Amino acid sequence: MGFLKMTEKKYTKNEGAPVVNDQASITTGKKEGYTLIQDSHLIDKLAHFDRERIPERVVHAKGAGAFGYFEVTNDLSKYTRAKFLSEIGKKTDVLVRFSTVGGERGSADSARDPRGFALKFYTEEGNYDLVGNDIPIFFIRDAIKFPDFIHTQKRHPTTNLKDADMFWDFMSLNPESIHQATFLFTDRGTPQDFRHMDGFSSHTFMWYNENEEYVWVKYHFKSVLGNATFTDEEATKMAGENPDHATEDLYDAIEDGNYPEWDVYVQIMTNEEAKEYKFDPFDVTKVWYHGDYPLIPLGKLVLNKNPVNYFNEIEQAAFAPSAFVPGVGPSPDKLLQGRLFSYRDTQRHRLGANYHQIPVNKAKNTEVNTYQRDGPMNVEDSGENPYPNYYPNTMDGPEPDASFKPPTIEIQAIIDSHTRPTEDIDFVQTGEFYRRVLDDTNKDHLISNLVGHMMNAKENIQYRQCALFYKAEPDYGTRVAEGLGLDISKVKSLSEMSQDDRVKATLN
Ligand code: NDP
Repeated sequence: MGFLKMTEKKYTKNEGAPVVNDQASITTGKKEGYTLIQDSHLIDKLAHFDRERIPERVVHAKGAGAFGYFEVTNDLSKYTRAKFLSEIGKKTDVLVRFSTVGGERGSADSARDPRGFALKFYTEEGNYDLVGNDIPIFFIRDAIKFPDFIHTQKRHPTTNLKDADMFWDFMSLNPESIHQATFLFTDRGTPQDFRHMDGFSSHTFMWYNENEEYVWVKYHFKSVLGNATFTDEEATKMAGENPDHATEDLYDAIEDGNYPEWDVYVQIMTNEEAKEYKFDPFDVTKVWYHGDYPLIPLGKLVLNKNPVNYFNEIEQAAFAPSAFVPGVGPSPDKLLQGRLFSYRDTQRHRLGANYHQIPVNKAKNTEVNTYQRDGPMNVEDSGENPYPNYYPNTMDGPEPDASFKPPTIEIQAIIDSHTRPTEDIDFVQTGEFYRRVLDDTNKDHLISNLVGHMMNAKENIQYRQCALFYKAEPDYGTRVAEGLGLDISKVKSLSEMSQDDRVKATLN
């Protein structure tokens, strides 16, 4: 009955004038329903309703988010001039959005999928977005493959169904995906909720100081509650019982004062080390081994405030990996380079060219002075101190500040579409993960999760993919192949072929 409570608050039209009647349209009679166009309240109400939905995100459509703070616990300011990292105890407001990747806005939170882990730091030098996942690596390492990859995770264009053939055809034709495909089919692919999972920048980023010295960094967010996962069976059950369970869990925990917390670390590599490291440090399909680059404490992340209006603050939240502040910059990671363009572009499509003026996206701890003007939904101007819309000018307009110049990077380049065929090194970390990190139960679940999914793909695709598992670790490939009822000697001989020959041998 809450909505019928009598109140002093007046219901108004969008322009502020009072609404006279909200229960009956203006018609020609008690029974005759010829409705008058002069009922502007009715027309406005229907027209607004017709426009309530904006395009859903093409990836990461289903999500939940909250506000909180990041606090520095270790002084690493010799590596970065970023002011929000300048001293121990410094706190910065943050927004975090968690999400699944492939499903639509109404899909189940428990789906087997990576989880997005996107942060917006409202720093005094502008907003800094760190748009990562709960898995430290990615399926592909070149942005040109991204739309194809995502198509295979979504619905088949003809049947409009998720399709195991598309999924494994793509994975088996892009063997660099094996590391993340393996992570995804462990129980870490179905985290219990958003509070019990880690976050990673996945990409390598640059940190630079005021002397223009730079290092390469990877960020790690370790959940203080630890990692908790569903088995495949539990995840499937939860999808039916409560498809929004992780959204609900996050909201309820924060309402109850159980604020989720992550310890934040970085791995740091010098440029000299990067040239020599045994893995390409900019290849997002690889991690930097902890033994080589230990986790260095940086801070903590705490979420302590729920959104008041989900649509305004979470659905309209716009993250972009290209939103850097001085002291942080991109690396030559080829997937990151594509994301630097694509995220801002998709926000322009989804929310409009002035999406940064929506309060949740607005820099709230620094002034914004830009020459970009007008466009749809522009609600800002240069205020009390108007300045023109061109630069340079002699009208007291804002000036660039060269003192924030990032380091100069010297390279010798050959411009080409540098094709990077799969090499043996692309299988090393998957083998290490299987042998060294997964215990027997984790291995059993990985195998049964894979078999349960791959059994829906065509046999030739199963052979091609099992050969890749075998190449990473014979026991791994053998067990998946056994589960699918494949001929192990054929899997072994396919694993010994070049990728081109393997593809030719498994066309049908
Ligand atoms: P370590 O052997 O030092 O540590 C293993 C890592 O694996 C820990 O970060 C652990 O995270 C994580 N882990 C444990 N169980 C699982 C699981 N079931 N699913 C996913 N991750 C799990 O790591 P190394 O650096 O020596 O790398 C060895 C292999 O571990 C790598 O090839 C990679 O596949 C994997 N890995 C490495 C990470 C890195 O950044 N170096 C991060 C995650 C995995 P937790 O503490 O949360 O259990």
